[in-house]
Amino acid sequence: MKFFKQEEFDSPDKPGSGAKMKPHFLKMLIAAREQAKIPFIITSGYRTRAHNKRVGGVNGSSHTKGVAVDLRCKDSKTRSIIINAAIAVGFTRIGISDRFIHIDADDQKVQNVIWMY
Ligand SMILES: [Zn+2]
Repeated sequence: MKFFKQEEFDSPDKPGSGAKMKPHFLKMLIAAREQAKIPFIITSGYRTRAHNKRVGGVNGSSHTKGVAVDLRCKDSKTRSIIINAAIAVGFTRIGISDRFIHIDADDQKVQNVIWMY
């Protein structure tokens, strides 16, 4: 896979679980990375239900469906680059915190939203 290794998406409690990421999501993520031209550091990819619970993820988190990542982001310039790239390639669900940006392609949830943590 271009730009990423499957292990980067692993749930920390289950080696190999990064394989559960959905191809349509990865395709969009790779396109966003290509557009951004900066490294995307994944702080959370796929999550088992147990891991999701441990990190305080919401019930039915898009991470447990393999259609979400959190990307490390601590400064305003990086934040702008990542968000612009995500929107450019069609992501419509973005969450912003002071430490990371969540992007997902969960078609079972409301679209065209940007939220804060
Ligand atoms: Zn997330």
